[in-house]
Amino acid sequence: MTPEQKTADAIRKVMIAVQNAIEVGHRSSMIKADDLVEVLLAIADELDPPLATLVAFEFACPHCGERRDDHLVWHDDEFVRCSGCGTEYVPD
Ligand SMILES: [Zn+2]
Repeated sequence: MTPEQKTADAIRKVMIAVQNAIEVGHRSSMIKADDLVEVLLAIADELDPPLATLVAFEFACPHCGERRDDHLVWHDDEFVRCSGCGTEYVPD
């Protein structure tokens, strides 16, 4: 696979995750700067995966199964937002 194909694949993979999240209502179709940053970072991580710490299965994103702890961000100590697909959930 050429670097160009790899880049295009990473973008497509992240866009599919975002579109699925919009369809099921986990992510708004209105884009904010925060959303753009999350999506661009998700693409960068697809191309160059960081060495990540994985959370336990019960804390994984219920939508896409994300387990990398740096992709699962706590907001106000109330819920977690998955930066891969935008799903917000309360781990329990
Ligand atoms: Zn997710």
